[in-house]
Amino acid sequence: MKNITTNFPNVQEEAMMKNQHHKKLAYVFRNSMNYFSPDSFICKNGWFFILDVTGKVLVHKKIGFPEYPLLNSYYVEDLHSQIQPGDHSRIVCVPIFQEKLVIGYLGLSVSVDVLYEQCIAFLEGFRYSLHMGWESYYNEQVASIVYEMNESFELDYVLSTVVNRIAEILGGKECIAAIFNREQRKIESQWSSDVLSLDVFKTNLLAENDILYEKLLKSFDKNKEPLQIIDQFFIFPIIHSGNTLGIIAILSEGDKGLFEYEKQFIFKLLKEVASALNKVLTLLRIERDHEKRDRLYQVTKKIHSSIDVNEVLHAIVENVKYMYPELQAELWLSHDSCSTQLPVKQFTFQSDESEVSVQAYMEARTIVKKSLGERALTLAAPLRGKQGVYGVIEFHAPEPITLQKRDIEYISMLADTAGTAFESAQLYYQTRNMIRELLLINEITQQLNKSLKLKDVLKFVTGKLIETYGAEYCCILRKSEEGDSFIIQASTDEKHLGQIVGKRWNRLINLNKKTEPIIIADLPTGEGEPLFRGYQSFVGVPLVDGGKVEGAILVMDSRTNFFTFDDYKLLEILAQHMNLAMTNASLHAEVERLVVIDNLTGLYNRKYLYDYVTSSQATDEYGSLILIDIDFFKNVNDTYGHQVGDEILVQVADILHDSIRSSDVATRWGGEELAIYLPRVKIDKALDVAERIRKRVMDRTKPQITISSGLSFWNRNDRYISVENLFQCADAALYQAKSVGRNKIIVASMDND
Ligand code: GH3
Ligand code: MG
Ligand code: MG
Repeated sequence: MKNITTNFPNVQEEAMMKNQHHKKLAYVFRNSMNYFSPDSFICKNGWFFILDVTGKVLVHKKIGFPEYPLLNSYYVEDLHSQIQPGDHSRIVCVPIFQEKLVIGYLGLSVSVDVLYEQCIAFLEGFRYSLHMGWESYYNEQVASIVYEMNESFELDYVLSTVVNRIAEILGGKECIAAIFNREQRKIESQWSSDVLSLDVFKTNLLAENDILYEKLLKSFDKNKEPLQIIDQFFIFPIIHSGNTLGIIAILSEGDKGLFEYEKQFIFKLLKEVASALNKVLTLLRIERDHEKRDRLYQVTKKIHSSIDVNEVLHAIVENVKYMYPELQAELWLSHDSCSTQLPVKQFTFQSDESEVSVQAYMEARTIVKKSLGERALTLAAPLRGKQGVYGVIEFHAPEPITLQKRDIEYISMLADTAGTAFESAQLYYQTRNMIRELLLINEITQQLNKSLKLKDVLKFVTGKLIETYGAEYCCILRKSEEGDSFIIQASTDEKHLGQIVGKRWNRLINLNKKTEPIIIADLPTGEGEPLFRGYQSFVGVPLVDGGKVEGAILVMDSRTNFFTFDDYKLLEILAQHMNLAMTNASLHAEVERLVVIDNLTGLYNRKYLYDYVTSSQATDEYGSLILIDIDFFKNVNDTYGHQVGDEILVQVADILHDSIRSSDVATRWGGEELAIYLPRVKIDKALDVAERIRKRVMDRTKPQITISSGLSFWNRNDRYISVENLFQCADAALYQAKSVGRNKIIVASMDND
């Protein structure tokens, strides 16, 4: 047992004790006088009085007209020996006991002729009525305390009144009141008649708060005596209809203890205190409930005015934290449909997840579990909508707390509101996506009808995609001829055009080989395709034609978790449209190609050359034209037949094709006349080309033939620039070449006149 040392000054304590007894004695003396009066029983003249333990007169009553005065005090020893201090009168006294302790004396000072036995009989009778009076005294005290308590509904006021009045009535003792927090199973607030004793109470009893709480509850069930956990403390329960609301502790120093009548007084008083306290606590709870309902209303209003799931979840978590500060929140979601800044955990339904939350999710109802350890209490409320459960909001308390049924209902209700918000938000996003999808498809289809050029279509699509997704990068890939990689055919980054990707990155390899789409939310830096470094979110779908991967569309962003599943679905739908568009575009390109290409030689035709030279003369600084005619071709036909003649034409065309650069255009001008236009090539360079071709024809054709060429040239500085002029000059030079013996090259004189 701990040794308590309190520093009450003894003198002061004694005085208080005395004062307390005096008040009580005076009260009961006066009260009993209403029923017993010595003048009607004993004598006509004298004094009737009450003394304290030291012999001091506390209250007196004159009987008739005594001829002698009453002293202020008497020697207690004299009283015991009943010695008469005067000739004419005698003093007769009886002690007043309180549980075997003398607390004062009741006395008579009467004339000597009054019989001593008579006096004793009267005094003993009166003493009996005094004892009856104690009860009425304490009843009166209880009544006045109750009256005072009822002045206010404030917890502080009620309990401060109680502790101060008890201390005052008991005298020399201190009183402490504490109330229980039943939900948290602990002793919560304390009031005291004295700061010092409160400290003693806290250090000695509250140090083991929860243990004390349980101990108190159990002990009160059993007995009607106050508890004495530590000698100096007498603990009384405040019980209202079977519930222990709190305690009153009396700190009594040393071995003085409490009188039985004092205990009875406290028990009696506490019955009244219990109902007053209950009233106050109920009122507090009602106020709190009211506030809760008010907050729920505010939250619900906010939730319904917002389509933003993030905002709704925030409001709920904040609200619960405010209402139940000891709870910590965790959010489990089954969807990636919402992005929230709250820490969210995704359900994977693996063993390491919170069982409580999984159960709440599966059974779509709120689950409360108590356990030992870190999470003494876990509450998991499902986010329910009309069409399903969207997740679980999990609260846990590190300390054991009791949640009332209405608290659980309140949290469940909030969670359901979140579920509804999720549902609306999802419907909203779905609708928005659908509209977005339709708009996009519509736009792309329109574009396809407008332009059949594949390049235009692809450029439009990549632009449109980054606009729709709000993403940073998009490209369209075409499978390489070898089939093991992709060539970037269109890209929002011009520098990427023509680059090769997908040789090493396994995601692109799998897309190519296994038609596997790409969905990446958070690619670690340093991984993936070197060309796409810096992007962390990817969606990619293959472009499939006849069951074979022909290409891919990729969209990327540097932010993590950028794309949703719906984004991916949209891209997949788009890919189907894209396939069609690309097939159409390539068919169209083929038709266009066929229109400008000569069937027999595979060279461009005359119209194409004409257009090409026209646009070159509009944009370039200069250019050269080589006009070629096969020598004595009629003879070839005549000798070997037309078939061989055609073959010779193809041979010459191939030589032309091999001898020029990609920017040069070789064409079949007509019959057995061919032409090469070399944009941005000067005449001496063109002459080299013509010479090379002349030699090659001579060397490579079979049967061997020769050609003659006429060259012409134009320059931005020419006075007169036209396609016709260029051809006329070349034709003239060719004519000259023929006339000077064939297998010759002549450069036109370019005087422009
Ligand atoms: P040169 O040009 O050297 O003066 O004599 P040439 O015999 O080539 O005379 P010219 O250019 O006037 O004759 C063109 C001949 O080329 C006429 C025609 O029979 C033949 N020819 C034109 N187009 C074709 C063709 O597509 N196939 C074949 N096999 N012969 C063609
Ligand atoms: Mg000819
Ligand atoms: Mg000819």
